[in-house]
Amino acid sequence: MPFTPIHMGPGILIKAILQGSFSLMIFGWAQIVMDLQPLLVILTGEVHLHGFSHTYIGATLLGIFSALSGKHLSELGLKILGVAKEKPINIVWSVAFLSAFIGSYSHVLLDSMMHVDVEPYYPLNTSNHFYGFLSIESLHKLCLYSGLLGAALYYSINWLVQSKNPAKK
Ligand SMILES: [Zn+2]
Repeated sequence: MPFTPIHMGPGILIKAILQGSFSLMIFGWAQIVMDLQPLLVILTGEVHLHGFSHTYIGATLLGIFSALSGKHLSELGLKILGVAKEKPINIVWSVAFLSAFIGSYSHVLLDSMMHVDVEPYYPLNTSNHFYGFLSIESLHKLCLYSGLLGAALYYSINWLVQSKNPAKK
């Protein structure tokens, strides 16, 4: 938080590299789940913005939750979007968990660089030595460019695969 969609950039790049072994939908769902606590804090005016959700232990629990709930939600989403028109897409559990954990852990890492109140190692200690590792501007650029690079890679790889076996669409 405060800008959840910016986390999607690195996710698109990971999707381009891992292709079918990674679910961008579950990754995205994990970003939303991770920022539910800060959203609630903003709405209720509480003090501690990021709190337990933005720790590695919190990210582990929320990662498990995102995988368990995201698998079915994504399958439903793909059906509604018409992607799974011919045959229903079944996301295997290993892909669901991998995508959710990459999502929740990368979220803590990126947010700990950006927000001074994030305590990623809580309750072991309250330090955050990643804070300020990159400026907010560089972080935003990194997320944006990795998304653009990922999209270009994703479509080029798919185009190459399809042009090599035109029968297999
Ligand atoms: Zn966040």
